[in-house]
Amino acid sequence: MQVIPKKSGTSFNLKKGQQLKVIDIEGKQVSDILFFNANDVNEKVSAGKTFDYEETILLTKGNALYSNRSQKMVKIIEDTNGRNDFLLAPCDMKTFKHFYNMDGYHPSCFENLHKNLEPYGIAPDDIPSAFNIFMNVQFDSNGNLKVLTPTSQPNDHIIFEAQMDLIVAMTACSAKDSNGGSFKPIGYQII
Ligand SMILES: [Zn+2]
Repeated sequence: MQVIPKKSGTSFNLKKGQQLKVIDIEGKQVSDILFFNANDVNEKVSAGKTFDYEETILLTKGNALYSNRSQKMVKIIEDTNGRNDFLLAPCDMKTFKHFYNMDGYHPSCFENLHKNLEPYGIAPDDIPSAFNIFMNVQFDSNGNLKVLTPTSQPNDHIIFEAQMDLIVAMTACSAKDSNGGSFKPIGYQII
């Protein structure tokens, strides 16, 4: 297993047919993940297309994540926790200022995604909403949103199967409230 240290990120290639296992090593830790077509980075994972085709906003085992060109990018073939979010955008410096009134530098998912995607020619403005593994976003019938502590326990994991050759970027999220008040690492394994 590879380990993404707390408040950081990584990127790598995943070939069609390969599986990616993402592990919440200590529990209650979110990982933002993005998928791009390795042969054309203008094709990327899309929350809107995924909700449209899967007819749900709660994505877990049995669902696929779709691209902005309506192609399946990954299938979720295992999900031991079962709660993920695809509504909220990656945390950044301005969200920290808004929600925590923090000034000055703080690592963020947005920075950790764009830093790791830069070598592939992907610019910050090309980063879409990420699939937020283990993130516990609740909503009521009026549409009000709340970010709660993840329900994931140590060693809970999700497995994606690539449906095309992919560039993957992922983080160990740096937003306190999303992670139950503490920052932890995230594990992953290419199978
Ligand atoms: Zn984050």
